[in-house]
Amino acid sequence: MKSGNMFSIEVVPAIPRKLSRLEELAGNLWYSWDRPTRSLFAQLHPKLWSVVGHNPKVFLRRVDEQRLQDAAENPAFLIQYHRVLASYDSYQNAPPMLEGQEPYPKGELIAYFCAEFGLHESFPIYSGGLGILAGDHCKAASDLNLPFVAVGFLYRQGYFTQQIDADGNQVVHYVAADFDDLPVVPAMTPDGREAQVSVELPGREVHAKVWQARVGHISLYLLDTDLEINSEADRNITYQLYGGDRHMRIQQEILLGVGGARALEAVGQTPTVWHINEGHAAFLVLERIRKLVAEGLDFAAALEAVAANTVFTTHTPVPAGHDHFDYEMVMEYFNHFWPQLNVDAERFFDLGRDPDNHHVFNMTSLAVRGSRYQNGVSRIHGQVSSGICRKLWPQIDPEDNPMDYITNGVHVPTFLALEWAELFDRHLGGEWRNHLHDPEFWERIDDIPDQQFWSVRLSLKMQLLYSICHRLSAQHARNHGSEAHLDRLLKYCDTDNPNVLTIGFARRFATYKRANLLFQNLDWLREITSGKERPVLFIFAGKAHPADAPGHDLIREVHRVANMPEFEGKVLLVEGYDLGLARRLVAGADVWLNTPVYPMEASGTSGMKAGINGTLNLSVLDGWWGEGYDGSNGWAIKPAPDHFDDAAKYREDARTLYEILQDRVMPAFYSQNKMGYSPQWVRMAKRSMATIIPRFSATRQVREYVSKFYLPAGRQGARYADKGFVAAKTLAAWKAHVLEHWSGVSMRQVEMPPKRIGFGRTVRIEVAVHLGGLKAEDIRVELLLARTSQIKTSTNPVPFLFECKQVLDNEHLFVLEMQPELCGKLSYLIRAYPYHELLTHPHEMGLMAWL
Ligand SMILES: *Cc1c(COP(=O)(O)O)cnc(C)c1O
Repeated sequence: MKSGNMFSIEVVPAIPRKLSRLEELAGNLWYSWDRPTRSLFAQLHPKLWSVVGHNPKVFLRRVDEQRLQDAAENPAFLIQYHRVLASYDSYQNAPPMLEGQEPYPKGELIAYFCAEFGLHESFPIYSGGLGILAGDHCKAASDLNLPFVAVGFLYRQGYFTQQIDADGNQVVHYVAADFDDLPVVPAMTPDGREAQVSVELPGREVHAKVWQARVGHISLYLLDTDLEINSEADRNITYQLYGGDRHMRIQQEILLGVGGARALEAVGQTPTVWHINEGHAAFLVLERIRKLVAEGLDFAAALEAVAANTVFTTHTPVPAGHDHFDYEMVMEYFNHFWPQLNVDAERFFDLGRDPDNHHVFNMTSLAVRGSRYQNGVSRIHGQVSSGICRKLWPQIDPEDNPMDYITNGVHVPTFLALEWAELFDRHLGGEWRNHLHDPEFWERIDDIPDQQFWSVRLSLKMQLLYSICHRLSAQHARNHGSEAHLDRLLKYCDTDNPNVLTIGFARRFATYKRANLLFQNLDWLREITSGKERPVLFIFAGKAHPADAPGHDLIREVHRVANMPEFEGKVLLVEGYDLGLARRLVAGADVWLNTPVYPMEASGTSGMKAGINGTLNLSVLDGWWGEGYDGSNGWAIKPAPDHFDDAAKYREDARTLYEILQDRVMPAFYSQNKMGYSPQWVRMAKRSMATIIPRFSATRQVREYVSKFYLPAGRQGARYADKGFVAAKTLAAWKAHVLEHWSGVSMRQVEMPPKRIGFGRTVRIEVAVHLGGLKAEDIRVELLLARTSQIKTSTNPVPFLFECKQVLDNEHLFVLEMQPELCGKLSYLIRAYPYHELLTHPHEMGLMAWL
């Protein structure tokens, strides 16, 4: 050991001129889904590529000069380099348009706000599913050539890296990133200065620098408060994801919503559609209202104008998971802000007031009130969210309220293994990339010979086993485990013998995800895994939130089982779950296991990533799997009935899991033919790909946002803003008028039809409506018709509209002449609700009167 002070200096290699565009490739997250670009870097120095965590920018700073010089003179490398550049350039200049895709209207811009973005493992500004979904949304928006920008945080420390010690404890490490290492540059204002914004927090102004990341051809703007001009405490605001206390949380959210809107302005972007992806960003509504009020609009009209082009997506299936702050805290943080909205404190607080707790400001309530397009992220979650939010439209039945759903998807180029892409190129032609949303096209997967199909599956499994061995060995060595023990752990993790049924389970260790469902009955599990002829390997990975003690217990429980002599080597726990490990796991496992408590899985996306790679899902019928499962493409655990208590549900779901493993999964996997594969398995794996690729791709997802929300919101926003916001003002005034008079609206029967009629006959129904000061054209009177057995539960009974025919003394006579098209015992309901042609959703006011 030498004495003396140590000084450091970094020697940066000079990139040879022939390879100069490597830096450009390193500066665009296109590499996060373009595998040839990543292999270009990897080839230069495979070991270094792995050491730098697949980070192209760091790689280019550390690679030996000689390697670069050699590559610049290596014809094979140069051919590949130019091939990558050609495809990069053609993507940048004109991303391919998909079949049936219309060009987006000129002048529109969609702004997408989220607290995290998961684009690549070397860019640690995500923690889990929400971030990866947001990253995939951006990638698909780029693929679809949408006018799109995104806004988030550039975290200094990001989410933690995870180690698991010899006792199964999660050890958390936060590593401060050097932003030079990340694929970002300072964002510029239109006049060429580095963009900075500020927000007011109690007693001070906090400044944030705006960074820009390129994702294909779209930009992601990221806020960073780690500036000298800020106090030490304020510099911390963008240090960690979901760290700190309630104060930290509200400061982050003010920065994201208010600061994010200002950041877009600073860089010269003017969105026409605003998407709040999860409640964290909902404060952007306040900032937009503030700006319109400053331009002279009144509060109510400004709210209408803002909501008209705002989209809100909720991802949380439990009310407690929705972000909220108490009255005093919100008032402390907004006391300089709400007076700028030209309302009193109560009216301001009403925007976020939680219907169940009037002292609480709920970010979901704010987001719903500040948007006219709202959705959950799967069919089941849409229903759950309609229920959670029902009090925001108090008189509307949950199934009729505006909360809709768009099921999540995954970015296929990111998660589909390279080997599949190559196989598709050979058998389906290169155009498969333009048919990602076309179910008919994917039926052609049957044309791929079973044996070739299976050999890809095997090779992906070998890559997985190799990588697990590698990771576990390092983990084991660090924890001072013995060689002999390591051999035992790795006995099924054998790349020479990949014919082991391999079951993956990787996701956040949150209790509702029930990582331990598999361990409910260890005797049964022992029986399933004890056959020498039919080995089974379970691989677990995932992080627990640092503050989630029960989540840490789950990790310890998996660790404990993994170390029981009878499960040694059969149950493995691998540390450091991230995007890189996820890509390997979802593609290499045979089965992807998911066992959440129904209906707590809003969507779940790792199962989609597995499914597109031919890995078979074995999952509780919850989230996306409620739509994805079709009986032929995997296995479903039908959740235990709702009236069971938690323990009974746990027992029942575990029993179903063991039975499926024992009776379905193992026999299907091990009924192998002479060629060494199971034809039944291959059939299912092909079904999995053919059904899941077109329906659960991020391309399908983003296209659905476009047609259902972005295009209508853009039109509605323009319509409300036209001619000095006349429509917004009109609608706001009309709503105030209706609200004031609605309690006076009532109906009574005048003439009811006979109890029985012949088919084809018309019946006449009359109701007299007391309008309580409203006009006849302010309301709609509607009859809902359905079979008697379905009338109360049906989500789409046939509606018939009454017409106002006559003005009586104090009432208006509404008449309906109806010809039922159904026969049998029918029932009907009659209702009235406010109507204005400017409304975005017929029930957005939440008002309804029933006869
Ligand atoms: C896809 C993904 C998730 C989300 O998966 P779920 O099934 O929704 O839990 C979380 N983390 C990583 C690293 C992923 O790739």
